[in-house]
Amino acid sequence: LVSRAHQSADTIVRIGEAEIGGDEPAHIFGPCSVESYSQVAEVASDLKRKGLKMIRGGAFKPRTSPYDFQGLGKEGLEILLEIKKAHGLAVVSEIVAPEHVNLAEAHLDAFQIGARNMQNFELLKAVGRSSKPVILKRGMSATIEEFLYAAEYILAEGNGNVVFCERGIRTYEKSTRNTLDISAVPLLKQASHLPVLVDVTHSTGRKEIMADCAKAALAAGADGIMAEVHPDPATALSDRAQQMSLEEFDKFHLSII
Ligand code: PEP
Ligand code: MN
Repeated sequence: LVSRAHQSADTIVRIGEAEIGGDEPAHIFGPCSVESYSQVAEVASDLKRKGLKMIRGGAFKPRTSPYDFQGLGKEGLEILLEIKKAHGLAVVSEIVAPEHVNLAEAHLDAFQIGARNMQNFELLKAVGRSSKPVILKRGMSATIEEFLYAAEYILAEGNGNVVFCERGIRTYEKSTRNTLDISAVPLLKQASHLPVLVDVTHSTGRKEIMADCAKAALAAGADGIMAEVHPDPATALSDRAQQMSLEEFDKFHLSII
């Protein structure tokens, strides 16, 4: 179902007023984690001023250490719903368990499936039974074929609103957090009709190369960019070193539009 052989025309996935996979790129920015209403609201106002239509923010955070901030959970979803009402932005957040589909359906405009859950097949089937758009991130050691099959799990349950998100893969290279696989973009676009985003935050982990990598992704045919923005990165509860400040984000945004 994901293949170009099955459907030759590009799929456009609508998230709120945004169209991913259409003629114009559609970007998703926002903080790594939802920490408070005011923290997300500050980013939301900035995105709105820039004419952006979506915001991201994690309520359920799959952290490497169980002692790190795990996200606000349901309270985080409620904050996102308030942001959506107050700012008119579509809200996107990761869910990590099949039961979160029902819990989060009324709060979110799209579900994100994180890299660590790309092959959590019960979760894929659960979002597949929903009609809400799904942003599916590439597993950190997933091949393109495995990535395509993960999306197939969602489509096979009836939900065709799937967006791929390349977010870097594990390699021996230590200069970046992961290795951004630019070739994934044309490979996915050729193999599938589904849109493709590129997350420059979790792939590079380095703010000074994010704009260049975003430009490369768009040049390679990506349908949009994902990146993290925080009003005060130094105090962030997750991904402190990688989130752009609003000032850094200004420059980044100007250089990719
Ligand atoms: C995220 O986007 O918040 C995230 C945790 O990314 P990934 O699943 O790609 O590591
Ligand atoms: Mn993050």
